[in-house]
Amino acid sequence: MPPRPLLILDLDETLWHGAPDPTHTTAHITLRPHLRDFLHDTHAAYDHAIWTAASPDWMHAGLQLIHTQIGLDLARTAAFLWHRDRCSWHRDEHGDLHPRKPARKLRATWIRSRSPRERILAIDDRPQNWASGYGHLVRVTPWTGDPTDDELPRLARYLLSIADTPDLRRVEKRGWRGRVLE
Ligand SMILES: [Mg+2]
Repeated sequence: MPPRPLLILDLDETLWHGAPDPTHTTAHITLRPHLRDFLHDTHAAYDHAIWTAASPDWMHAGLQLIHTQIGLDLARTAAFLWHRDRCSWHRDEHGDLHPRKPARKLRATWIRSRSPRERILAIDDRPQNWASGYGHLVRVTPWTGDPTDDELPRLARYLLSIADTPDLRRVEKRGWRGRVLE
């Protein structure tokens, strides 16, 4: 059996949607439909980690909401909790800064010892975040509040179907929705 794979989760527009509010931080975060089943089902085959371009306060506010609403304490169980300080920032032609999640950071010895890079997938709604590591990326549609959204259960079925593939980076993951068994 190949080593247990690692699933790196983006947060905003992937697992939840929200807008920062200095006085009611968590009240303005809404969790994506079926999040509880998604986390539970994928944890059967994958370890979880978090990598967001958001601030640490925002990350922890949302993780606390997940803990309260669906009873999963990702802040305790995740392999790592990475926020904007772990991103690199690139300026576009208009002078605006955009985050990247540099895949080279996954070469850290302590990560490689538990999760070789071929066993790491990343779930993200912004493919630009993974411009230096597309092989890890499973792109999801950005979620901004549609209560009928069914991306997560479909994604969980897909992830479970490929979990035993020794080199997950070599799996063609574009168009994954067409390869999910209904
Ligand atoms: Mg996002």
